[in-house]
Amino acid sequence: MKRKNWKRIVVKVGSALISPNRKGCSSHYLLSIAQFIVKCRAMGTQVVLVSSGSVAAGAHQFPDGERSDITIKKAMAAAGQTEMIATWDRLFDFPSAQILLTHADLRDRERYVSIRDTIFSLLDHNILPIINENDTVTTDKLKVGDNDNLSAMVAAAADADALIICSDVDGLYDKNPHTHDDAILLSSVANIDQSIYAMAGGAAKGGVGTGGMRTKIEAAEKAVSHGIDTYIINGFTELSFNMLLNGKNPGTHFEAHEKPMAENEHWMRHTTRAQGEVIVESEFAPNLSDNAESLTSKEIIDVKGEFSVGDTIIVRKDDGTKLVKARSNYSSCLLNFIANQENEEFASEFEEQTGPIISKKNLANLEKE
Ligand code: GLU
Repeated sequence: MKRKNWKRIVVKVGSALISPNRKGCSSHYLLSIAQFIVKCRAMGTQVVLVSSGSVAAGAHQFPDGERSDITIKKAMAAAGQTEMIATWDRLFDFPSAQILLTHADLRDRERYVSIRDTIFSLLDHNILPIINENDTVTTDKLKVGDNDNLSAMVAAAADADALIICSDVDGLYDKNPHTHDDAILLSSVANIDQSIYAMAGGAAKGGVGTGGMRTKIEAAEKAVSHGIDTYIINGFTELSFNMLLNGKNPGTHFEAHEKPMAENEHWMRHTTRAQGEVIVESEFAPNLSDNAESLTSKEIIDVKGEFSVGDTIIVRKDDGTKLVKARSNYSSCLLNFIANQENEEFASEFEEQTGPIISKKNLANLEKE
């Protein structure tokens, strides 16, 4: 691997590196990560840091028996976040800036664009953005839930060339390395398919942070489809960072797609979350991604969920086939109203005046899934 001329990278650091014993923050493992960031910047590579660790760092402020309570967890995040930022800030002699995000921010196009602008302004002024999920305000509906996926969304928003996920394992193994002595580390992955997910195993690893290998693969899948080379590396060893700086691959490299998705489609496909579904007749097959405007209330047989104008929906056939993920120009209430109209003329006149239900410019094709 030749050292790439990265213009911009996102480095994701897991909780286990920041607060290994859940007793506040420790700079033990952060020193080599900070050195790596300093060296990248000196070489002209802009860096965005996605740092977990607020919950783990804040844990010691609360009694042991209370820490699994969700309200206390939010308080742990609030208390740990300041400590975490202060710890990072001490390691740099340039300024850093804190950005706290929720999924509700990222899936709203206006807020997403504002986040992008802020990241770019900070980078233009040589300030290091340090991003985490705003765990204090999130609910299940609002959150991303793990910083692996968050880091991929941030990497896409920041137009990064590479995403480096610092983990507590060397990379992706073909089998669980904790239970199989003969497990082999995959040095590169060109195509993320079900066999790769199968190697990653179940949802969580039960350690200090939230994510496991599965969320790292999800993150890699999101990032590579946006043309972002993704690495899972062992963040506990300085060697990993020295290897990266020397153009060597210390872990698993997920290769960026050569023909990345356009930014808007990528955001729709990987960052938004569908709030509802519109079910159309199975015979309806107009290739919606090219003819989005051909979807009218006549083809709709059901509207599921509650959504507002501007929310993301999935359009699928009644046999289950997903067609597109798109911004709905109608609320679920209005769609129900026109789809259930007996007077078809009224419905089509109404739609003519109001405009198409979905539009080509706000859509991601799901037909190949
Ligand atoms: N946002 C969480 C925290 O700062 C971490 C989520 C994760 O471990 O992926 O504690």
